[in-house]
Amino acid sequence: MTFEGHVQITIEALESTSKIYLNVANLTIKEDSVIIEPVDEETPNPGIQDWEVLDDLQLMRINLQNSAIRGGIYLIRISFKGIISPSDQDHGLFWDQYPQHNEMRYVMGSQLQPVYARRVFPCFDEPTYKATFSVTIVRKMHMTSLACGDLIKSELREDGCIADSFHTTPIMSTYLLAFAIVDYPHLQIISHKGYKIRVWARADVIHAAEYAMTIAAPLVEWLDDYTGIQNPVTKIDKVAFPTWGGAMENWGLVLYSENLLLWDPTWFETDQQLLISNVVTHELTHYWFGNLVSCRWWDELWLNEGFASYFESMALQDPLGWPGSEIVLNSRLVPMMGVDEMNTSTPVRPHIPTPWHAEDAFSTSTYGKGAFMLRMIHQVLGPTSFQKALRKYLNDYAFSTTVSNDLWAVFNQVAVEDNILGPGGLPVNFTELFTPWIDQSGYPLLKMHRDYETFRVTYAQERYNSSDLSLPPSTYE
Ligand SMILES: [Zn+2]
Repeated sequence: MTFEGHVQITIEALESTSKIYLNVANLTIKEDSVIIEPVDEETPNPGIQDWEVLDDLQLMRINLQNSAIRGGIYLIRISFKGIISPSDQDHGLFWDQYPQHNEMRYVMGSQLQPVYARRVFPCFDEPTYKATFSVTIVRKMHMTSLACGDLIKSELREDGCIADSFHTTPIMSTYLLAFAIVDYPHLQIISHKGYKIRVWARADVIHAAEYAMTIAAPLVEWLDDYTGIQNPVTKIDKVAFPTWGGAMENWGLVLYSENLLLWDPTWFETDQQLLISNVVTHELTHYWFGNLVSCRWWDELWLNEGFASYFESMALQDPLGWPGSEIVLNSRLVPMMGVDEMNTSTPVRPHIPTPWHAEDAFSTSTYGKGAFMLRMIHQVLGPTSFQKALRKYLNDYAFSTTVSNDLWAVFNQVAVEDNILGPGGLPVNFTELFTPWIDQSGYPLLKMHRDYETFRVTYAQERYNSSDLSLPPSTYE
């Protein structure tokens, strides 16, 4: 399947340049459709000399006739065609299907994380290039289209299709955009604080969307209270896809596979209900950790995923009443330790030299070990200082991106302010303590040797390897 698109990008030239590079992958750019023009009459039009797509680099290079001037603001317009892939190749736009009344129904979704927005439209496709996005989707009359923003208006076109226009998004990264076209019914709830939560699923299973909708309201309000920040996106659509696999925190349009969103007590055991609670919590946490404040590059992905994974336990426990910390210990810590002791384990902050390596960042370390580092920090700082630090982090970096040092600096500052002392009686230095934790794989085993003749105790630290031990690691209090 294919689609047609048109993009209009507003850019400011930070310095004079005769070349503009945009990310493009698997798109066919229409001849003569590439146009640049200044937004005001005083700025000269640089004109386009020619353009080419550098497939190997997933870039499009626009060569200008005259240089764009420093400080000049320009519009670039491009028309293009792209591919809607089957749902098992979830890169860019994908189509999914399900049988109903003896016929096959087709729906569409998207997966742009980490580097697939460039398959949907030409753009600056790295998390640090945040922008606002105004989206219009053209659909058949009997379908519903969804985007990150709320619907503004629907217009009937001459060809009988409907053009839906959506509210402009907050400043955000391209990987968090989403597009969906479905023929689903939905359930809706509006929380006390005004978050509009809708869950969309095919008609045969829409009743099973009730649970995910019901828990989302107290969860999002808990996150709002805990962070002290009303999320800039108060519209939360969740859409269940029949065969597509995954869950993705797109800002305003979270997409799930059915088995991670729908729950019916006659289908599943409580385990599945817990899994759905976990996943819904995880994706909502990203609205603050990941969407409002994003990792600067994919090597720092743990700043998104560590928080979302850790909050699975915190948010589950408080508003939903699950034994959150116990669950997360069993479901995350034990499997994570098993993976991390292997020689193939990658560090929490892996080396991601190019966009083609971005998928490598999604590892057990990024999620699980990142979460347990935050758990250690939570225990060292205590609940009040931890919350204070997270509020400061979110406020300082809202609509921006961060690296680990930004987070450590916030924890360091709170340790000084709140007199949280470490060894030597000095305020805890998180940069020093945790940089080895994020850059090395494996985790330490402490060995204690007691010598009864000299009355000396010797401690040694080495990389943990379960095959060297006769006993599993224990916790002593
Ligand atoms: Zn996540």
